[in-house]
Amino acid sequence: MRVVLLGPPGAGKGTQAGRLADRLGAALISTGDIFRRSADEGTELGRVAEGYMSRGELVPDDVVVAMVVEALEGAGQGFVLDGFPRNIAQAEALERRLEELGLPLDLVLAILIDDDEVVRRIAGRRVCLSCQTPYHVETAPPTREGVCDACGGRVVQRDDDREEVVRRRLEVYHASTKPLIDFYAERGVLREVEGFGPQEEVAARVDEAVGHASSTAGRG
Ligand code: AMP
Repeated sequence: MRVVLLGPPGAGKGTQAGRLADRLGAALISTGDIFRRSADEGTELGRVAEGYMSRGELVPDDVVVAMVVEALEGAGQGFVLDGFPRNIAQAEALERRLEELGLPLDLVLAILIDDDEVVRRIAGRRVCLSCQTPYHVETAPPTREGVCDACGGRVVQRDDDREEVVRRRLEVYHASTKPLIDFYAERGVLREVEGFGPQEEVAARVDEAVGHASSTAGRG
């Protein structure tokens, strides 16, 4: 199956995308993860992406599209795209490329949560600098403030999780990414899933939508 996951930052897309790719035996292509890894490794791509990411802005389309086209080469027939496309231009570029490959999308899943919940989730997020264990100030704080339970490392807030950056990421989502919901609804591949509640409940809703799409795939 070929699936795109859409949704605002903090909707849990990354978690659901990883789980879904495992379950479907499909390749996972997460543009945010590729950028973060490239930035950590100090590659040219990482240096380009870093500034945009820390401000909550989108990396330029030509850079992202080239990266995704390359990732699709290695992906085979099934994939889950997380974080791409982010605007209409990217969606059109993807559509053209998949048409050339003869691999149309089966399903676009939009995970929906409201802005206040996004800010609450992301602005409270913390991570260990040494071992990357994730924490949340409200729902999963470390036993000692600022100290990792797992390794004793320093627990900090990621730059792009600061509240002002989260608010900017949300503005970008509403202006650029949300119009993709109509774009894909018009193509008949959209399903919307509520993103509130624990991850397992969201996962059950995702599975239900995927099951429905796979049972109707090829009928129309
Ligand atoms: P994410 O983890 O998907 O929220 O992505 C983190 C950051 O990477 C975003 O805020 C953007 O700066 C950048 N990014 C990820 N995917 C894209 C994309 N498809 N287009 C432009 N920028 C992106």
